[in-house]
Amino acid sequence: MNSPRPSLLIAFGGNALNPEDRAHPEQKEEFTIARRSMEKVADLVERGYDKIILTHGNGPQVGRIFLQQELTRGEFPRQVTLDVCVADSQGRIGYILQNVFDSVLSERGLPRRAFSIITQVIVDPEDPAFGQPSKPIGVFYSEEDAKHLTQNRGWTLKQDAGRGFRRVVPSPRPLLIVEKQIFHAILDLGFIAIGAGGGGIPVRRTPAGRLEGLEAVIDKDSTSALLASETGIDIFIILTAVKGAFLNYRSPQQRLIQRATSAEMQAWLDEGHFLEGSMKPKVEAALSFLKNRGSRAVIAHLDDLTDAVDGKAGTQIYPG
Ligand code: ADP
Ligand code: MG
Repeated sequence: MNSPRPSLLIAFGGNALNPEDRAHPEQKEEFTIARRSMEKVADLVERGYDKIILTHGNGPQVGRIFLQQELTRGEFPRQVTLDVCVADSQGRIGYILQNVFDSVLSERGLPRRAFSIITQVIVDPEDPAFGQPSKPIGVFYSEEDAKHLTQNRGWTLKQDAGRGFRRVVPSPRPLLIVEKQIFHAILDLGFIAIGAGGGGIPVRRTPAGRLEGLEAVIDKDSTSALLASETGIDIFIILTAVKGAFLNYRSPQQRLIQRATSAEMQAWLDEGHFLEGSMKPKVEAALSFLKNRGSRAVIAHLDDLTDAVDGKAGTQIYPG
């Protein structure tokens, strides 16, 4: 008998759902691009992997939701808060992945299906991130609009490298996945679980016990690591647009890290090899997963998923 396959959490980056060269693809294209990613997940299902969680980013999608909202604000002055925008993006992306995965698996005659979970994540309202909004989201504004938005909506706007002003929001640390039990249940029923989209919907628990959405976004790699630990996943795979984590990235000495221990990655992290806001959160997420008893973390290119699982591509990180 075959030994059971390890369980996997696969975190898809922006390139799994959006073309790398354009911010606003045709709707049809979103399905085509998603198909490329889901074919690779189907390959794993075919090889007997049965406990799989998929998570995904939402940067471009939430940007578009924001843009639509801003363009129609004269007609619909109602302002939808950020937690609801993240929920919108989870529903939309969940639908696309669920739909495409169904097609891919029926074509292969496989009975497995995927199920999306709208995911809320508890954060601490006292998290220092709330005092220093840092994550740029949505469209660019003129200086005049920026002043207006600060006064009228209480937003924080920052100048973005000469391209205009952009809203920045806090990016607090994820503490607890509200729907954790649902992930367990969905996996036990034999579904592939899709969730924690865009890092999850940030919420706080009020003293009265209610969940309340917050105007923030959570890093998707960080939430993926937490979800992987909370659901006892064996291998955490972060897929992105590069072959893995590099030392001396974008310098003539750049070198792909193929295999490393947590301690080695931590030392390179401290030396500043991984850029803030892109590779650094991935390495931090991998390290936090391994610290919480994960057996292996991998950072790899989307196209290399199968080899990454087999230990033959990307940056393979082991505890130690
Ligand atoms: P994703 O949508 O997958 O989260 P990000 O842009 O957030 O993508 O992160 C991946 C990017 O990180 C790569 O495309 C690369 O440009 C950048 N990066 C920064 N530092 C490094 C590094 N040391 N090694 C590899 N890539 C790096
Ligand atoms: Mg990212």
